[in-house]
Amino acid sequence: MSEFAKYFDFNATAPIAEAARNAWLETSVEHWHNPSSLYREAGAARMRLEECRESLADALGIEEPERVVFTSGATEANNAVVRYLADRTEGGLAVSPVEHPCVDAAVKREFLPERVLEIPVEPQTGAIDFSALETWIRLDEVAAVSLMAANNETGILYPWREAAALCREHGVLFHTDAAQWIGKMPAEGLGECDFVTGSSHKFGGGKGVGFLVLPEEGKADDFRGLAGGPQEDGRRAGTENLPGVAAMVAALSERQDARLAGIESARGSDRDCFETTLSGEIGTVSLGASGPRLWNTSMFVLPHTKNLKWLTRLSARGFSISTGSACSAGRGNPSKVMAAMGLDFERMGRVVRVSGGWDTTSDDWAALAAAFGEVDAELKNQ
Ligand code: PLP
Repeated sequence: MSEFAKYFDFNATAPIAEAARNAWLETSVEHWHNPSSLYREAGAARMRLEECRESLADALGIEEPERVVFTSGATEANNAVVRYLADRTEGGLAVSPVEHPCVDAAVKREFLPERVLEIPVEPQTGAIDFSALETWIRLDEVAAVSLMAANNETGILYPWREAAALCREHGVLFHTDAAQWIGKMPAEGLGECDFVTGSSHKFGGGKGVGFLVLPEEGKADDFRGLAGGPQEDGRRAGTENLPGVAAMVAALSERQDARLAGIESARGSDRDCFETTLSGEIGTVSLGASGPRLWNTSMFVLPHTKNLKWLTRLSARGFSISTGSACSAGRGNPSKVMAAMGLDFERMGRVVRVSGGWDTTSDDWAALAAAFGEVDAELKNQ
């Protein structure tokens, strides 16, 4: 049994990979100087940072490493992209209603409501209405599009490749939040997007680090994230977190496309089997299961009792799962993702999200299913 056999919350965060820990220690000890200083040791730190930029660009299939800007995570990166699009484009922004709150809230803050076009979502499947987006792009109604690659709650995959190609053809800027995609799915084609954002801790690289991919030269040369210093070529001020960056790159290279080959069918069928068992034995209803999803994620409506009661009983058995960003105890704001998928407030309170990892085995999934069965019986007999 692996150390993390009962951890089913990988979409929230992943444990740090051994290679990442080693890279963090190595750079903290060997390259602690400030990469912006002018002596030899600082130059070595700068070189190490630039090597990391090249490796990351390579892992993402991006030809120009200078497109990569290191940030403190996907929240910062997404906020910076949205602010840039609001300030530097004229016209509409098409955005889906299922984006992560750090995109959603940034759009609300930076854009006047009349500039925002919400891409319709089909409640049953959670898929976007691509033809609506296509019409807006073709009719020149939008200057920019933001569409996440994979949803953090449901795991639903969105057609970012198709959207990126269409936007490119029509001179519309395209952003994809790939925080849940990178490390779980092949990165091929991400370079075709103008802006890509990602987060290290989602694939085992440690917290507080992420990145932003900018468009090719000539398209967003005036991009300025944080102001205050010349770091990152003036595009994001602040002393670079070299150990964090090195750890992120080490973790991502462990999750290279080659190692991902086959994982979708193997782990995906373990997850599917788990869902079949649960729906048959306790009557759960999976969300977004009819279309393409991340291989590790399952979100479903429980047949009875608030999700938090299930979560605490599972936690007592050692299993870690999530209520997603649903209103867990019937309090809080309804989840926009679940609302877009047609769930009413009561059902939202019975939703849980289970997300496995790269080493989660079919036995681990089966053990979780059995634990759900026990909790079901326990709650029914209350
Ligand atoms: N975008 C998505 C899709 C996410 O799942 C997350 C993390 O929950 C973020 C952005 C924010 O990432 P970070 O924790 O690096 O700020």
